[in-house]
Parts: sequence; C-alpha cells; structure tokens
Amino acid sequence: MDNSAMPFGQAANFTAQESFMTSTTSVYQLVSCNGCGKQIHSSALACPGCGAPQPAAQLVTDKRILPAMLLCFFLGCFGIHRFYVGKVGTGILQLLTLGGLGIWALIDLIIIVVGSFTDSEGRKIKQWT
Ligand SMILES: [Zn+2]
Repeated sequence: MDNSAMPFGQAANFTAQESFMTSTTSVYQLVSCNGCGKQIHSSALACPGCGAPQPAAQLVTDKRILPAMLLCFFLGCFGIHRFYVGKVGTGILQLLTLGGLGIWALIDLIIIVVGSFTDSEGRKIKQWT
C-alpha cells in the first residue's frame, strides 16, 4: 500500500477574487419609452426621440382643490371628498366613522385648502380649478 500523503498545503492558496460588482445603483435608470420603446432616462418628462410623455410627467393630478373642498365641506362627514380623489378605502372608513366625528373631515378640509391633499396615487392636489 502506497500511503503517500497528498501535500495539500497549497490548496488554501486561492485568492478570493470575487468579481467586484460595483453596482452603484444608478440614479439615472433607463426605462423604455412607452411611445417608441427607446431607452430613455426614467426622470425624463418626455421622450427626446418621439416626444411621448412619460409616467414621470404624470406627477400632476387631474383632481382639483375646489371640488374636493366643496365635497369635504358639505359631505366631509361621509368621506365623499376621499371618494372623489380615489381614496376609496379611507373614504369608506370615514363614512363609517362620520368623518372621525367631524374632526378627521375638518383636518382633511384644511389639508385640501393648503394644497397638501393627495390623490390615490399620492400626487398632491395643488390646482383650484
Ligand atoms: Zn419615444
């Protein structure tokens, strides 16, 4: 029996040379244009190629302060202004609690008037009409 031990001293000589992925998650993520499919910056408001407006441009809501305010003022206890902006869940909650006994509705009214009320997409409602 040849019992020569394997010299495995140098086996532990591998340099952990991991390919260092410098994944600096780029702020400028590329998205494909929903008009022409071209790669454009995610922050672009419109495609430089075809001019198609991009989702980032849709930061403006189509909801308005005035109708929201009127709904909140007259029907705030029923959460109708929340239904208006698309916040159905909290609208129902408000309806069931009678606008948080009026307090919640009142707070909403103030937030609406100062232009900080948001729609269901989290976009601030800043325009009056
Ligand atoms: Zn395009």
